[in-house]
Amino acid sequence: MTNGLVKSGTREQNGAMWADVDVTIVIPVHDEVESLPYLLEAIAKTLIASELSYEIICVDDGSTDGSAEFLKEQALVRSDLKAVILRRNYGQTAAMAAGFNYALGKAIVTLDADLQNDPKDIPMLLAKLESGYDLVSGWRQNRQDGAVKRLLPSKIANWLIRHTTGVNIHDYGCSLKAYRAEVVADMNLYGELHRFIPALAYIEGARITEMPVRHHSRRFGRSKYGLWRTFRVLMDLLTILFMKRFLTRPMHVFGLLGLISMVLGTAIGIYLTWVKLVLGQNIGNRPLLILGVLLLVTGVQLFCFGLLAELLMRTYHESQGRPIYRVREVVTNSVQ
Ligand code: UDP
Ligand code: MG
Repeated sequence: MTNGLVKSGTREQNGAMWADVDVTIVIPVHDEVESLPYLLEAIAKTLIASELSYEIICVDDGSTDGSAEFLKEQALVRSDLKAVILRRNYGQTAAMAAGFNYALGKAIVTLDADLQNDPKDIPMLLAKLESGYDLVSGWRQNRQDGAVKRLLPSKIANWLIRHTTGVNIHDYGCSLKAYRAEVVADMNLYGELHRFIPALAYIEGARITEMPVRHHSRRFGRSKYGLWRTFRVLMDLLTILFMKRFLTRPMHVFGLLGLISMVLGTAIGIYLTWVKLVLGQNIGNRPLLILGVLLLVTGVQLFCFGLLAELLMRTYHESQGRPIYRVREVVTNSVQ
């Protein structure tokens, strides 16, 4: 079955179909109607010249400026465009996740709809991907956004992310990235997590690199974000850190901390009992007593938390049939 119906389904529904297309371009769109015609043209021009088979998936994320209508119209007349219209505004991460779900390409490239990223960079990213990487991230060396409000928070956020996740790239915020389809296929994205895709992919063992890309200032419309985003990004960073450390063995961390705390608490308890019974001193007014009790209670809590987290992680992995490892390839000469 290779009719249009099958092709418009999700990756799961299509099974093997997705090997047909070399690259899927995924674009989240929120109120970008002026940019869209230029964007679609620029992408088509570059990719036709590169002789790759491609599809463009524009995900309309609750636009109110006519972007959805424009995309629907275009999708009916262009064979290279698929319009996915979300029911309301869910945010850039959700829009990208929707795009990934409908993508059929062997490789996936994401970029913004506002013409700030340059489609001319796509073939270069894809070539780099081919040379043996799972993810190639764009690096806006010449970033064209307002200085203090955008660049400084972004510098700090990038520094923090780089030092906490261990993924050594400069610009996490750049939407222009290329991935092998497997990398994003089973990734669960929440909150502002799209900028942590490299970190999430790294946890799953992906080979990651970066390349300088062009960046232009916005021609139409306004940025959808302000300073508030920095805060949300930081909260998501905590989630990532937690996942990185504890995803498979939470008990190793919480159980150990709990045990240490309990042992210390018990030791203090024994010491105070000895002071009371053998030396006959009053222990009711000693700060050490409070410390001992606190350590014991905290210890028990940490330990229980570790056990619960362990159960949760099992549910997380098993409910999705998610193995705790990722296989890059299997090599064998047997026929079976
Ligand atoms: N976007 C979206 N949903 C939103 C906010 C933004 O799909 O709720 C899209 C937006 O249309 C653009 C991309 O995400 O294609 C990046 O947004 P923006 O250019 O405002 O971010 P900036 O480049 O300023 O970081
Ligand atoms: Mg932008």
